Amino acid sequence: MAKVLEKTMHTELARTLACQVKAFVDEKIIPHELQLAHRDDRSLQLQADLARQARLAGLCNLFYPLSHSGKIASLEDYLIVAEQEGHTEFSQEIFGSHTALDAHMLLRFGNEAIHRRFLEPMVAGTAVPSYGMTEPGHSGSIPSLITTTAVLSNGKWHINGRKWFISNADRATFITILARTGNPDTAVNQALSMIMVPTNTPGFKMERRLTMMGHSYGQGEISLHAVQVPEHYLLGGCGSGTELMNKRLNLGRLLRAMNWIGLAQRCLDLMGARIHSAHGKFSRLADKQLVRQHMVNAYHVIASARELIRVAARSVDAQYPDDIAINVAKMAASHALCIASDSAVQLYGAEGLSDLTPLFGISRIARSSRILDGNDESLISSVGRRLINFYQREPAYSFDR
Ligand SMILES: Cc1cc2nc3c(=O)[nH]c(=O)nc-3n(C[C@H](O)[C@H](O)[C@H](O)COP(=O)(O)OP(=O)(O)OC[C@H]3O[C@@H](n4cnc5c(N)ncnc54)[C@H](O)[C@@H]3O)c2cc1C
Repeated sequence: MAKVLEKTMHTELARTLACQVKAFVDEKIIPHELQLAHRDDRSLQLQADLARQARLAGLCNLFYPLSHSGKIASLEDYLIVAEQEGHTEFSQEIFGSHTALDAHMLLRFGNEAIHRRFLEPMVAGTAVPSYGMTEPGHSGSIPSLITTTAVLSNGKWHINGRKWFISNADRATFITILARTGNPDTAVNQALSMIMVPTNTPGFKMERRLTMMGHSYGQGEISLHAVQVPEHYLLGGCGSGTELMNKRLNLGRLLRAMNWIGLAQRCLDLMGARIHSAHGKFSRLADKQLVRQHMVNAYHVIASARELIRVAARSVDAQYPDDIAINVAKMAASHALCIASDSAVQLYGAEGLSDLTPLFGISRIARSSRILDGNDESLISSVGRRLINFYQREPAYSFDR
């Protein structure tokens, strides 16, 4: 009984926060979206101002660990807040939600020195994390191909390698590097480790900025040349890199999926607005069956993805992460965003392709969602394999877990 009451109180708190986030997004972020999209000095200043206001309003880092300024403990409760944050592509950096994943990883797998040096400044808003896994010249989907090396000598990790498509590379103060610490013949699930590297360490260099579909999201290619960091900057155990990567991906996929659902809902709302605008009324869009079909398709994929995310989130909350549910939820959210954004661009005609609406920016995110955090093909392959393996052991699958 006490547990049920506690759960209800947490859910009520999440609802209240979702309303506050919605008001902040509608009143303070959406009116400035056009300016924020430029990612020049002025827009970064505006973003920083909005982040300060969000912090003052108590709306930052909501899904951080409760011991480190977070307010929402369960992923299932966070869904309704993340959706509201997700209504605009600029929320993540303003509400600090793009760093929640790092906060959880550092708290769970970091030692005290890592908490002090990296986690606490992040909570205070003075440190910016990034994550270095993908490397030029290799498939990012296959960790066994990672060539960046870290060798322990005289109490220090000596790191050499190159990483690319690193988000926040232009302003990160530290990076979690996935590097090879085992010998060439060590099995991949014991060959890799995660190591924390401050970006001002000698030998760390931002080589170049990279754009995504012509737009800068702060991504870059970095190199590490004879970089040295203390031995205790190792996250988790030596050789636990693959395990940590999978844990990071599980939580990361769900957090992103929740935001994508918010963006997809924004597209549905924008379609509704277009249909009832003077422009839409003049063309009698509400009476057209194909327009109704766009609305139904978008509703269908959003509603389905929300429930898949909820089921997957519950499995993580219960400490039994269900890989099948998580991967399917990630793909469903990405699919919902692709369908909803494409339909919305279509209904807005040329305006949908211009910067007069936020739709083109949303479409860029939709397209990248099919590659980021596990491309469609490798997720389909992995889920299919797990399902087939399941039937080797059991005669029937139960969705009621
Ligand atoms: C917006 C964005 C942000 C990113 N941020 C970061 C970051 O912060 N840090 C970081 O380390 N990386 C980051 N990445 C890189 C991302 O992790 C990789 O793009 C992703 O892992 C895929 O790797 P890849 O690009 O090398 O493509 P590849 O692995 O080479 O895959 C390319 C294509 O090959 C096909 N393919 C691959 N595997 C299979 C399979 N098993 N079956 C069938 N076909 C397959 C698919 O069509 C796939 O799309 C980011 C990427 C994007 C788009």
